[in-house]
Order: sequence, then C-alpha cells, then structure tokens
Amino acid sequence: MGLQAVIGCDGVHSVVAQWLGLAAPRGTGRSAIRGLGFFPDGHGYEMAIQQFISTGDLAPDFPPEFKEVVRRSDLSTLSWVTLHFRSPWSVLVCPARRGCVTVAGDAFHPMTPDLGQGGGIALEDAVVLARCLARAGSARETEEGMAQYVAARRWRAAAVIMASFFSGFVQQASGGPLTRLVKLI
Ligand SMILES: Cc1cc2nc3c(=O)[nH]c(=O)nc-3n(C[C@H](O)[C@H](O)[C@H](O)COP(=O)(O)OP(=O)(O)OC[C@H]3O[C@@H](n4cnc5c(N)ncnc54)[C@H](O)[C@@H]3O)c2cc1C
Repeated sequence: MGLQAVIGCDGVHSVVAQWLGLAAPRGTGRSAIRGLGFFPDGHGYEMAIQQFISTGDLAPDFPPEFKEVVRRSDLSTLSWVTLHFRSPWSVLVCPARRGCVTVAGDAFHPMTPDLGQGGGIALEDAVVLARCLARAGSARETEEGMAQYVAARRWRAAAVIMASFFSGFVQQASGGPLTRLVKLI
C-alpha cells in the first residue's frame, strides 16, 4: 500500500484542524461583503488598490468610480462573511500535525483580510509543504517532513496574523485599544 497522508485545506472552519485540536478561530465582530463588478469593455482604472472609509451611512460622498463598481456588481456574485482569525499565540503552540495529518492555509492560520495576505500565505504553505515532503519515502519520513513544515510556517503565519490584525485595528476605530489587544491574544 502507498504512503498515506492527510493535508486539511478545508478553510477557516476546518474539521481537520478541529480533529488536530487547534483552538477555534475567533470572531472579530467584523464582516465583509464581496462581489464582482463587470466591465465588458474594460474599466480603465489604474491598477492600484483603493480604499474608501466611511462610517454608518451609504457613502454618499464616495467618488463616482466607487459607485460605478457597485452598480456594475452582479448580485449573484455577492457574498457575506464574518471575519475570523486564529490567535497568533495558539498558532505558535498548536498541535498542527498528528502522525501523517496536518493543515494548510486558512485551516492552519486564518487571519483578518486587512493586508490581503491570507491566500498568499496559503500558497507559501503549499510550496514549503511540498519541499518538506518531496523526499519522504516512508510514514516516518512523512511525519518528519510535516513536522518540519509546521515548524517552518508557525512564526511566519503568526507574524502575518498579527500584522493583519493591527492593520485592521488602525483602520477601524470601534472598540477601545485594550479591548482589541485582549481579543488578539
Ligand atoms: C473579505 C476577504 C478578502 C480577502 N482578500 C484577500 C486578498 O486580497 N488576498 C489574499 O491573498 N487573500 C485574501 N483573503 C483571504 C483568502 O480568501 C483566504 O486566505 C484563502 O481563500 C484561503 O485559502 P484556503 O484554500 O486555505 O481556504 P478556502 O479558500 O476557504 O478553501 C477551503 C475549501 O475547502 C472546502 N471545504 C470546507 N470544509 C470542507 C469539508 N468538510 N470537506 C470538503 N471540503 C471542504 C470549502 O468549500 C472550500 O472550497 C481574503 C479573505 C476575505 C474574507
């Protein structure tokens, strides 16, 4: 029988992470709505991220580009998610591998989207995990490779979770600073 391994890439509410005993993701009290605006003839906008910040109204003063993107959004593409993250402390100490079972991407280290890095970090996981498992020829070597992968990824993931959280912390004013710090840890 060939080597067997399980890599849980099942997102923020991962059942594999639960099975491994990772701490449950924490809610931020924030949510995000995403959608796709369709511009069949091209949008002509500069290729740059733009951020518009407002509180508690329907953004009447936002620039026309913003309103045009919203107007062109197809309702069928809209999605709403509550934002979760795993505490960086628990990512540093969690049992992210048991035997030949591990997790990657949001299943391992969900983070707030304030830096837009969650998907990038998930791809990094894939590269590092592939390198660590490339020469595994036995169950023991697979376990060792996964252990190397977890050790290599913990600090990087915890650092980006923190950076993302603090980026959101600066951008969003609600909640006192101490409240938010306690939430992070
Ligand atoms: C609002 C918002 C904006 C973001 N912006 C960016 C950005 O600009 N750049 C960036 O890099 N990242 C961004 N991210 C983060 C990015 O979306 C995630 O980090 C990335 O999708 C994680 O990929 P993943 O494959 O680990 O998990 P997911 O994309 O969540 O994929 C998990 C998959 O597993 C499946 N699944 C779940 N449970 C089971 C099960 N029991 N059995 C079988 N399948 C299952 C799900 O259906 C899903 O297809 C953003 C996130 C949010 C919420």
